[in-house]
Amino acid sequence: DRIISANMMMEDQAVELSLRPRYLAEYIGQNQVKENLKIYIEAAKMRKEALDHVLLYGPPGLGKTTLANIIANELGVNLRTTSGPAIERPGDLAALLTNLQEGDVLFIDEIHRLHRTVEEVMYPAMEDFALDIMIGKGPSARSVRLDLPPFTLIGATTRAGLLSAPLRDRFGVVSRLEFYSVDELSYIVSRGADIFGIEIVGDAADEIALRARGTPRIANRLLKRVRDYAQVRGDGMITRDIADQALQMLQVDPRGLDLIDYKILHTMITSFRGGPVGLDTIAATIGEESQTIEDVYEPYLMQIGFLQRTPRGRMVSPAAYQHLGLPQPPQQK
Ligand code: ADP
Repeated sequence: DRIISANMMMEDQAVELSLRPRYLAEYIGQNQVKENLKIYIEAAKMRKEALDHVLLYGPPGLGKTTLANIIANELGVNLRTTSGPAIERPGDLAALLTNLQEGDVLFIDEIHRLHRTVEEVMYPAMEDFALDIMIGKGPSARSVRLDLPPFTLIGATTRAGLLSAPLRDRFGVVSRLEFYSVDELSYIVSRGADIFGIEIVGDAADEIALRARGTPRIANRLLKRVRDYAQVRGDGMITRDIADQALQMLQVDPRGLDLIDYKILHTMITSFRGGPVGLDTIAATIGEESQTIEDVYEPYLMQIGFLQRTPRGRMVSPAAYQHLGLPQPPQQK
């Protein structure tokens, strides 16, 4: 797997558990989202009611699961965690919901992958805190309504567009998480180093932050790898030089690009004069799935302005030529 993949890897698990912020005050960045949540949480606590259902969306690794945990902590309630595809039948959902206590949070990751039959049971549960259960089969079948304790559903998704409208409309709070700034990531790296008990020089934290592709999960993973390098090749302290060497060895360039990003950009430049070129054509040329390019590689390249999406296809931007040290073709200038 790519060292700069935003998806969770096996090696992240232990690190993420120890680095995961537990309260809003420790959660860095996403200020607008935090401000809103703070008010809603406070209000729900004052009224002694369950918090409105919350939908969190945005690319992987930006802190959706972390935020769900924090919300439950701030409310002082239990959190049950599951994911869309894990709830196979309506009965599974019923079992989860009837086990909740009043005010608890049910967190469903990848909520866009809920099975349709499960989703339909979810509507009355979200709206009226009730479950409609079919008892019996054939002509004697009848529906029984079961009351549920008031609860908060927190849904997380990387693809808000795939959520059905009736489900989306049942969330009172919809928050989109954004990529983090280099300053915020640098702070996250320093905080992580603190927790690990590693000495890190300020500009070394910036060096790691710059390559973390706007994503705390990647920042934490890079920190861990740089720490290993510092221990083996240095005296344990992370200086800017050590960070730089470690990251070079990992083949992550100063803007966080790796070999696949290079392949995408180089292919577009050498075979298609920088574009515009269709996504499927790029995919076929480099031997990747279009969907993977769109979901995994492209968002960051667009975020830093190296790639542009136009009605006629993708284009490499002047900033990318400059970064790669390549001349721009004349017709693009
Ligand atoms: P997602 O659910 O969006 O994929 P996670 O919530 O699992 O992302 O976040 C991945 C890791 O990144 C967490 O374990 C945590 O250590 C770190 N992290 C995420 N958001 C923040 C934040 N705002 N401040 C500090 N660390 C964060």
